[in-house]
Amino acid sequence: MITSLALPGVIRTSFLVLVIMGLSGAFSSLVLADSGSIQGKTDSNTNHISNSVPDNSKVHEYQLKNGMKVLVKQDKRAPVAVIQVWYRIGTSYEHDGITGLSHLLEHMMFKGTKKHASGEFEKLVSAIGARNNAFTSQDYTAYYEVLASDKLETAIEIEADRMRNLLFDPEEFKKELEVVKEERRLRTDDNPNALMREQFNAVAFLNSPYRAPVIGWMVDLEHMKVEDAHDWYKKWYTPNNATLVIVGDVDPEQIHAWAEKYFGVYQSHPLPDVKVRTEVEQKGIRHITMKLPAKLPGLRMGFKVPGMISAKKGEVEKWEPYALEVLAYILDGGDSARFAKNLVRGREIAASAGAGYYSYGRLPNLFVITGVPAKDVSTADLQKALLNEVDILKNELVSEAELKRVKAQVVANEVFERDSIEHVATLLGSLESVGLGHQYMDDYVPGVLAVTAEQIREVAKKYLLEDHLTVAELIPQSLKTTAKTEKKPSTTKSIKK
Ligand SMILES: [Zn+2]
Repeated sequence: MITSLALPGVIRTSFLVLVIMGLSGAFSSLVLADSGSIQGKTDSNTNHISNSVPDNSKVHEYQLKNGMKVLVKQDKRAPVAVIQVWYRIGTSYEHDGITGLSHLLEHMMFKGTKKHASGEFEKLVSAIGARNNAFTSQDYTAYYEVLASDKLETAIEIEADRMRNLLFDPEEFKKELEVVKEERRLRTDDNPNALMREQFNAVAFLNSPYRAPVIGWMVDLEHMKVEDAHDWYKKWYTPNNATLVIVGDVDPEQIHAWAEKYFGVYQSHPLPDVKVRTEVEQKGIRHITMKLPAKLPGLRMGFKVPGMISAKKGEVEKWEPYALEVLAYILDGGDSARFAKNLVRGREIAASAGAGYYSYGRLPNLFVITGVPAKDVSTADLQKALLNEVDILKNELVSEAELKRVKAQVVANEVFERDSIEHVATLLGSLESVGLGHQYMDDYVPGVLAVTAEQIREVAKKYLLEDHLTVAELIPQSLKTTAKTEKKPSTTKSIKK
């Protein structure tokens, strides 16, 4: 199951199914999507926009006796529905030596239960005309089907079945482990930018679990055993660690009844203790270089920043994450944004430049700036120019006109994305899974609209500090030399992000 990446909140230009809040490709390592039969993953932007934006019908929330949460949102514009089952388990719950286990388990979820043999899942899904997908991130693992709403009961039944009845056939496991290792080779080892991103994260974070890649370190994959996956499953795939999300042309009471019937039969299980691993304070700039076979040089920079969860806990002001969100758009929100206007077109220093902030994680993350220098420009000069744009934001207030334009764009993106039932379901599920609560969905637009020019200057001054910065530089090596040293020719096809 090797498909293109899809991730919540991260891609502005090539919008995938799972985009939650506008962010740039800066975070494309956050989520690994695997699909059985996903289609139309790219450019949903250009495909459709319906005239009627869905109303703000409320989210019906239920909790089963075993602790499982059920969220249902009606959208009757078409006789379709999306069903998602979310588990609060991902890379950030793993420890050294078992990185990648959550994602590997996600693969095993397609390998059969007592009731449905391996391969039958896909057949059942296609028999009801559904397309399905699964993805793993640092904070959660989710499974979903998109289908005609009158076929929903079957999907609920098969999702409930694989919550507790998965088989761990050693042969199937062995095969799937090879699939995952190949996925790692294709997506990371043969992709210079992904490889840089991986080591950049590991250097930026010393003890936060966000330092580990979702796909896992190769050495950890090589030593993974079927028992590891089985244990992980028994520990975390329990109703009290899951949320069922359904959006579409459905009756909430009927969904509640089906949830009781199929998921309600399971007992809740005590969950393992999750240790607090708050990142230690960074005390100065970190810099790494990576010499990799690549066509172009590259730069990746990240500042430690709080997220929405920090605001929820009262560790930072409520408006701060929203101000960072707007700040990201000022730098990189299309052609009129500052990076494009000043550095790509204006001074022609950058071939491309981006900024991204993922505010919806379970733990604080990074504000990321990326760039590729223009021809005959050094990476050092590009870095200076990018950081200069950040410094301007620390010293000069954004004009009312620019702020108004950027906010309008953020809101327009959001309204557009809310048009998709898959987007809405993904947003509900992820917010619930990281501990923010689905109600946060309604806070986003007002939160963005309330941001002032002074607040943008304040978060720039408070968080975009050189002492909290990590810089990774990609120094391209000849593609030819490395091809020779490799045992077998491997694909260097990059995955579209
Ligand atoms: Zn995968």
